[in-house]
Amino acid sequence: MTEWLKTFGGGTAEGSAKMLDLLGGKGANLAEMANLGLPVPPGFTVTTELCAAYYDDDKRFPDSLSEQIEAGMQHIEAAAGAGFGDAANPLLVSVRSGSRASMPGMMDTVLNLGLNDETAAGLAASTGDARFAYDSYRRFIQMYGDVVLGVGYHEFEDLLERAKQGLGVQLDTDMSADDWQDLIGQYKAMVVARLDAPFPEDVGEQLWGAMRAVFDSWMNRRAVTYRRLYDIPESWGTAVNIQAMVFGNMGEDCATGVAFTRNPASGDKCIYGEYLINAQGEDVVAGIRTPQPLSAIGEGTGAPALEQAMPEIYAELGRVSSRLESHYRDMQDIEFTVQKGKLWMLQTRAGKRTAAAALKIAVDMVAEGVLDEATAITRIEPETLEQLLHPRLDPEAPRNVIARGLPASPGAAAGQLVFSSERAADLAARGEAVILARPETSPEDIHGMHAARAVVTSRGGMTSHAAVVARGMGRPCITGATELRIDTDGGTISAAGVTLGEGELVTVDGTRGELLAGEIPTIEPVMSGAFATFMGWADGIRGLAVRANAETPADAATARKFGAEGIGLCRTEHMFFDSTRIVTMREMIVAKDSDGQRAALAKLLPMQRQDFVELFRIMAGLPVTIRLLDPPLHEFLPHGEAEMREVAEATGLPVEEVGARVAQLHENNPMLGHRGCRLGISYPEIYEMQVRAIFEAAIDVGESDGSAANAALEIMIPLVMGAPELRILKDLVDGVAADINKARGAVPAYIVGTMIELPCAALRAGDIAELAGFFSFGTNDLTQTALGISRDDSASFMDSYVRHGIFAEDPFASLDREGVGELIETACQRGRAARPGLKLGVCGEHGGDPASIHFFQNCGLDYVSCSPYRVPIARLAAAQAELKRRRGPIAGAAAEKNRQGV
Ligand code: PEP
Ligand code: MG
Repeated sequence: MTEWLKTFGGGTAEGSAKMLDLLGGKGANLAEMANLGLPVPPGFTVTTELCAAYYDDDKRFPDSLSEQIEAGMQHIEAAAGAGFGDAANPLLVSVRSGSRASMPGMMDTVLNLGLNDETAAGLAASTGDARFAYDSYRRFIQMYGDVVLGVGYHEFEDLLERAKQGLGVQLDTDMSADDWQDLIGQYKAMVVARLDAPFPEDVGEQLWGAMRAVFDSWMNRRAVTYRRLYDIPESWGTAVNIQAMVFGNMGEDCATGVAFTRNPASGDKCIYGEYLINAQGEDVVAGIRTPQPLSAIGEGTGAPALEQAMPEIYAELGRVSSRLESHYRDMQDIEFTVQKGKLWMLQTRAGKRTAAAALKIAVDMVAEGVLDEATAITRIEPETLEQLLHPRLDPEAPRNVIARGLPASPGAAAGQLVFSSERAADLAARGEAVILARPETSPEDIHGMHAARAVVTSRGGMTSHAAVVARGMGRPCITGATELRIDTDGGTISAAGVTLGEGELVTVDGTRGELLAGEIPTIEPVMSGAFATFMGWADGIRGLAVRANAETPADAATARKFGAEGIGLCRTEHMFFDSTRIVTMREMIVAKDSDGQRAALAKLLPMQRQDFVELFRIMAGLPVTIRLLDPPLHEFLPHGEAEMREVAEATGLPVEEVGARVAQLHENNPMLGHRGCRLGISYPEIYEMQVRAIFEAAIDVGESDGSAANAALEIMIPLVMGAPELRILKDLVDGVAADINKARGAVPAYIVGTMIELPCAALRAGDIAELAGFFSFGTNDLTQTALGISRDDSASFMDSYVRHGIFAEDPFASLDREGVGELIETACQRGRAARPGLKLGVCGEHGGDPASIHFFQNCGLDYVSCSPYRVPIARLAAAQAELKRRRGPIAGAAAEKNRQGV
């Protein structure tokens, strides 16, 4: 016969923490605490298997259940020394949900079950406290009426409020036993009026009703939505915990509270939490009375701490806390009740904590010998490190949300609204903090984005231009805020009935994807010593190298600060958008002939060379992968009269001719147009200039710094389809190298490699590898071209694709394993078959995504490259991926939390 329940209490338990799937988090940990000999009120857990059976059989309980429930209740009666429904010595129980993953407040609970007119009188007599007995009874009717019978909670509250008004009292505690009894009469009458049936007096009926209601609450709207948001499978089901009640509200020697074994905000080792004397658990949360601190030191609210009010209980709580913490080897969040001077443990679970606290706790626990370094590494979700790298909004500050979009780049910043990059740059040069609002951004906005504290766009997805660039720069950014109307001509934004103009103050919360009115105060990040220690352990473990995508000196410096081991992608196009250079670039594009082009390029050469000099100096010998020009030329073209005239003046061409050339270069689908290596083939002068600048810069740095700054030059060709394009462009690079060698007597060591960002290139990787010294997967374009989904236009439908389960996640944020992943695996195999030891990396946005990093590790990649601000995340994710490879699946932070039912 299937066993539907497991008992606990009285110093032993049938279950344990290992039975998380069967008993849910709460049940498994109650069993574990009972096994440890901790004071847990006796009870039993009805398993999640029963939940599945209940739903499979059209919400009917199996016949074998009632006998087992009866035995379970006898176990509680024996351990508690009271009888369920016994008028002289009544046993009261709580009925609580508890699933494998914590779903706080999503499902139902009934407390004080087992009370009726007789047992309430019995409770009054046996405790000698009629006020307490009838207060408990009315609480039970209220909860049961709401949860099981479906009478609105507020209807009971209204009656209570009216009763208080009638009596002229403010607090529940001012109500007498007689007052409560009167109210109980009113409650019951209301139930009859609403349901046409009396409130159940039969305690057995109460128990089955509550159990059914808790199982039913697994499918309530709140729970279903929560599961969808947190990827919790419906098939897990909930367990139900039935447990003897203990009371924190039986007098001044009673209390109830919550304790963390370490401070969840700072990670400091101390008992941290709150309690209330003479109260039930719900009173702590309800906020009617202000809870008091547990520890006397540093709390100073004036009210006595538990340490002072109940020193013996405090000491015992301390002992239990350390026992639980060393047993679970993690910080615990504990619920307790003190009944008549005796401490009872009601729940323990891994405590939620800030990223800073998580790091400190992990590092401290290694120092204390509780954890080894590898286990500590598995305890932190890589994504949470992001909290430590950016300023964040003061969580206490009020928020007036104007619009929501995608949380494209985390962090927060406030400033004046501006609507053009020029304006952003002007105001920033005057020391103003600005927020750039654009329908979308293009490479021409780079200087504006750099000048702005944060960026918001109404269009675009997580890998749109704005998102990629903002993440790279560490600027908070919201993209795809579709409800926001951005009128760049009129200089206004409007949404939710609010219109704001230039100069008005707004705050961008890039972590949550919210645009807020006004300036919300921010908190600067603090990189604690624990951060460096912890990241050092991660570096010692990981096999994948971590580089950064960076082109400006500032980005490169940030990348190194965050531990990047080189640059995996320098997007050289970003170097041309500076306002002094764009005109020269335009001269080059509109030039009539090769001579005109070369003249313009000759002006660009020293500037480009200087860019590389700075980059090489900062990277000091670390590998630097420089990608030759990639975007379609039309992105550099002049717009509007004034810009056309400026180019006409610089080139000496008539404005009409400049206009005609611009029209000629227009493309309908530029992402699939004249870009990448296609530019290098049709305009070899551009690539020649870039390659010359790279070599000359490397020689200059080598000569002046005497360093090996040029030892690791990697020249990367974008968007190849196959070997023929690479052949032409590799010859071009080798040709420039030969020239340099002739002129300077030496040429720095270099490798020519390629991006693999077209499906065709992935399939023809064998041929390509015959020529390429390395592959770097451009997973942004590879995702775009493999799925046929525009990386800039997917925001409008991606949500519904995820909702329909077509994608588990936005494939531009987390790699599509089946399709794009197979192309990558194929390219790795074919590439390495043709050239054993071929260096493989990734430089698309996925290089900073933990789940994708696990995939890249399994493909055998050598490195990932990501935005500077994601470097620490990638370092940790790579260490976790390596541990997983060594040991098989490890309990990552999320799995760990689930194990403990958080
Ligand atoms: C890519 O396509 O993944 C890539 C890194 O190049 P970009 O984002 O510059 O197109
Ligand atoms: Mg690309």
